[in-house]
Parts: sequence; structure tokens; C-alpha cells
Amino acid sequence: MGIKQLAVCSNGKVYKNINKTEKVRRKEKKLRRLQRSVSRKYEMNKEGGKVVKTRNSIKLEKKIRLLHRSLRNIRSNHLHQTTSEIVKTKPSTVVMETLNIRGMMRNRHLAKAVAKQGFYELKRQLKYKCALYGIAFVEAGLWYPSSKICSSCGHKKDKLSLSERMYECEVCGVKIDRDFNASINLSRYEKSSLTS
Ligand SMILES: [Zn+2]
Repeated sequence: MGIKQLAVCSNGKVYKNINKTEKVRRKEKKLRRLQRSVSRKYEMNKEGGKVVKTRNSIKLEKKIRLLHRSLRNIRSNHLHQTTSEIVKTKPSTVVMETLNIRGMMRNRHLAKAVAKQGFYELKRQLKYKCALYGIAFVEAGLWYPSSKICSSCGHKKDKLSLSERMYECEVCGVKIDRDFNASINLSRYEKSSLTS
């Protein structure tokens, strides 16, 4: 799971980050414009330090509410579509990485993007949909180094920076997309955790 894409699965399926689509971007831009304009209206119509709502500002507030709702629905639909599609591939087990969401939220460059992805909701949906279909749901341990292990030979890197989008193994020479590599490791998680 991530910011670049919502989810990358070990069967090769990639689920996009809906917040990067033109549709969502346009709505967010429009929302920001309306918010600026309504706060200008509040400033203009102050009476003795108190905000007096005008018919125009009430109209703008309604438009803002509707846009918020529309964005919420788009994001929620995307999560439902994604989680439904994953369980409909009928895996025996779904292994999901444990994201350090609180840690990511502390990074102010990431916080907004992380919040908009709705990872907790994604997990909640995946969990109950797996239960519905009789699929085992496993969360990998927080410290399982799914990104650092080579899915081809099992070598584990000491360091892997976030900017390295390609996993390049210095032992076996394999070159593979970073997230796809991690997803393959996660798909083997249960077995590896049982044997070690
Ligand atoms: Zn390797």
C-alpha cells in the first residue's frame, strides 16, 4: 500500500491512487476556490467582530458541503471497488502489510496524502470482505521488512531509501518494481513466519 498507488498485489494487479486522477484534482481545486471565496465573504460581512451570514455565503456553504460529499463518495466507492475486486480473485489468504500510519502522519509532507488514501478504511473493508468469502486475512508484523527482501533470492538489504522505486538486488542481480517485490514477499509471509 502506498501513496503513489493505493495498492500493489502479488498477482500483478495495481490499484490506482484515486486522488491523483483528473476528476478528483478538479473537484479539490474547485473546493479550495469556494473556501477562499466564502472566507472572503465572512471577512466582508463582519459586524462588530461577529460574522453575519449573508444569503450569498449560505449559498457558497451549500456548494462546499456538496463538493465534500462528492469527494467522500468518490473515495469510498474506489475503496469498495478495490477491496471487492481483491476478494473476488478468490485467494486463500490475503496478507496485508502493517503500515505505520501514525508515523506517516507525523511527516507533514505525507500527512494529507496519507489521510486521503483511507488506509484504515481499506483494511476494515478488506477484513470483513475476506471473512465474508472465507478468506484468511493476515496482517504482517510491523517490522517485517517486505521492501528490503529480494523476492528472487531472499537476500535482505540493510538499507533501501524511499526514492528507490526499483529494487535492484546486489546478490542475484534481479531488477523489479519496489512495490511488486514487497507484495511477493508479503504473499509468502505466513509460510516464512511459521518456519522461523
Ligand atoms: Zn536477489
